[in-house]
Amino acid sequence: MAEQPGTLLYYLKRSTEFLEKKEIPNPRVDAEWILSDLLNLPRIKLYSQFEMPLGQKEIDLYRERIVERSKRKPVAYITGKKGFHKFEYFVSEDVLIPRPETEELVDYLWKRKDNLLATNSAEEGIQIWDLCSGSGCIGLSLTQLLNTSVVVLSDLSEKAIEVSQRNAEKYKLTDKVNFYVSDLDSSLPDDLKFDLVVSNPPYIPESEKPEIMPDVLEYEPHLALFVSDFKEFHKRLLSVVKNRLHPGGKFMMETHPLYMDDVETLATELGFLSSKRILDSSKKERFFFAEAPPLP
Ligand code: GLN
Repeated sequence: MAEQPGTLLYYLKRSTEFLEKKEIPNPRVDAEWILSDLLNLPRIKLYSQFEMPLGQKEIDLYRERIVERSKRKPVAYITGKKGFHKFEYFVSEDVLIPRPETEELVDYLWKRKDNLLATNSAEEGIQIWDLCSGSGCIGLSLTQLLNTSVVVLSDLSEKAIEVSQRNAEKYKLTDKVNFYVSDLDSSLPDDLKFDLVVSNPPYIPESEKPEIMPDVLEYEPHLALFVSDFKEFHKRLLSVVKNRLHPGGKFMMETHPLYMDDVETLATELGFLSSKRILDSSKKERFFFAEAPPLP
């Protein structure tokens, strides 16, 4: 049966066809996400509302947003939000859109939360630093999933820090989290040390730019994605982390599978112990885990 013109299903189908013609990879799913956000309805609810007529304002807004998607703007930037683990965070073009791999990093730590205590005194809660925090998805999720006493989020980008502050407000975490606009630890108080440092730093070498899909390349912040010299940057990052960990403190980072050897070598040279490579769900070596030496 043909759908009635003017109904939700009618616009959903026209939008899907339009996105398909523009070679957007998942046209129907994207058209649904954009519509569900616009109507403030869970995506699944659209299916019971197919016959609902759309108002002129909704039609105009929907068309505008579908055109944006046809130009490759990621859905998360159109709707301004992205589901991540058990949460949903605000995103803007000032931050990287949280990736499913990064949810796996959070999950890994959550499942091992009892082993993250670096010191005997850590029963009051662990001290965490999310370095290169972007939207705050890692640090703010861990704040809600672990027993924390101190949480620091830092990013080089002031605008990213503003996004993460908005996310902290959404989840009423502003009392628990300290934010720093900082190049690595340069703006952090000297005496701050941590039980756990987590990071999803920029890790794609500039040379891979031609392989990156336009949705990412044209919309996501290059500062959060690309490094000009992987080894040089990671050497700095790892040595800062090492200095900021309590004895026995843990470090977990997302990285580029092709550079895992470099990361492991750098960490070993700096004196990290118990290095571990952890696979993501696509079986790529995506995460690096290591520990600072315990007290002698
Ligand atoms: N995983 C991201 C991507 O593939 C990159 C994230 C990063 O550089 N930290 O686009």
